Amino acid sequence: MICAGSVSEILTQFYSHFKENTEQVRFLEKGFKLKIGDFTLTGRIDRADDLPDGTLEIIDYKTGKSRKQKDVEEDMQLFIYAMAAHECFGLTASRLTLYFLDDDVKLSTEPSSEKIDQVRLKLIDMAHAVNQSDFAPTPSEFTCSFCPFNKVCDQSAV
Ligand code: SF4
Repeated sequence: MICAGSVSEILTQFYSHFKENTEQVRFLEKGFKLKIGDFTLTGRIDRADDLPDGTLEIIDYKTGKSRKQKDVEEDMQLFIYAMAAHECFGLTASRLTLYFLDDDVKLSTEPSSEKIDQVRLKLIDMAHAVNQSDFAPTPSEFTCSFCPFNKVCDQSAV
């Protein structure tokens, strides 16, 4: 939990950096619908900045403790954003960044096409696994007694 004092410090710190870089902001809070295989993924990109070479830096804001460089390189969400930038908006992302607001730390990685292909295949596998899952109810007195739907569920054991 963040106390009020530290929230204002975080915001002051963030604004002092942000106000110097507003010209390079391409978009903020941009929604997308990305087609992957036969399913559609929706999401929202926090921020994308123009880089001098005409590509984008995609930035995802995070609260809480900052993570390690390896975590950024494995952050599936950032690679999905790179895919969305390319396939939904025709823009190439060459830098993917997690911006940890509490610590004022930015960690970045480059989205190689191999890595993007890996993430795409992983997403397709995950979607197929979800589609094939068996969500049949498994009621029991114990489980159903704690379930918030037990008053409306026709399978409820209580
Ligand atoms: S009340 Fe229905 S939904 Fe909830 S645990 Fe029981 S069977 Fe599942």
